[in-house]
This record gives sequence, structure tokens and C-alpha cells, in this order.
Amino acid sequence: MSRSDTFAESKNKYARYLAKNGLRSTAQRDLIINEFFKSEGHVTAEELHLKLRGKNSSIGLATVYRTLKTLESAGLAHERQFNDGFMRYEFCAPGYRHHDHIVCLECGLVEEFENNEIENLQIKVANKHNFTITDHRLELYGVCERCKSKTA
Ligand SMILES: [Zn+2]
Ligand SMILES: [Zn+2]
Repeated sequence: MSRSDTFAESKNKYARYLAKNGLRSTAQRDLIINEFFKSEGHVTAEELHLKLRGKNSSIGLATVYRTLKTLESAGLAHERQFNDGFMRYEFCAPGYRHHDHIVCLECGLVEEFENNEIENLQIKVANKHNFTITDHRLELYGVCERCKSKTA
């Protein structure tokens, strides 16, 4: 899927969510979601707010927060917390692939990984407890290669 298709499909999904929940789209919300859909990786509301300010918008941080929450409810954003006190948001575009994260506690580097063995083990654990998994979060914390070489 091309980037502009992803964009259009995400916008449709968002519009459907707004309609279903009796919410209106506003010019401010549209600016925020456009900026968010362009973001890569894991962004905080503050980072998004700064970017929008750079584009001479007067959108308040609270509006950015609320819109990100809405995107999360609409299934277009995942909330991520990497142990540094910030809530981050990851764009969950159509065709999004599940992945987990490994985080450096020194420099904050976040890498993404997928591991089928871990995924299958989680299902096994859940089955043992008669659970059906609907969601999971896995973060590994440590020190990355660069930071390790700095302290060596
Ligand atoms: Zn590091
Ligand atoms: Zn990620």
C-alpha cells in the first residue's frame, strides 16, 4: 500500500469513528491528525505540539492530547510507555504489523522487533489460564551497543 493510500484509508477510518460517536471534525483536529500520520516511530504529545507550533498553529497542548486519545480509541494509535515518564503514540496505520520494543535506559533508543517464538509462548501461557489474548505489551530494557561501548 502506498503512503498516500495509507493516509486516505486512515482518514476514512477516523471520519467513520467521528461519525459513529457523534463527534465533529475541526480544522485543529485535522491539522493534528495530519501531522501525526506523518510521524515516524513513537511521538509524545509535546513533540507533536512543538511541530505544530513550528507551523504557526495556535493549537493548545490539551487539544493535542485529546486528539491523540481519540485516535487511540479509533484504533489508529497505540499508546506506548518506555519507562521515562512519557506517554508516546505510535501510528497504527492499516496494515500495521504487531511488534514489540527494546529500549535503552541510557540514551532512550527504541528498537522494534518481532519474534514468533515469543508470540507463540504468550498464546500458550494464556491458553493455560483459559484466556484469549486481545492485547499485550512487551518491552525489554537494557543498554544499547553504543552506550555499552561508552562506559566500557
Ligand atoms: Zn543507548
Ligand atoms: Zn513501535
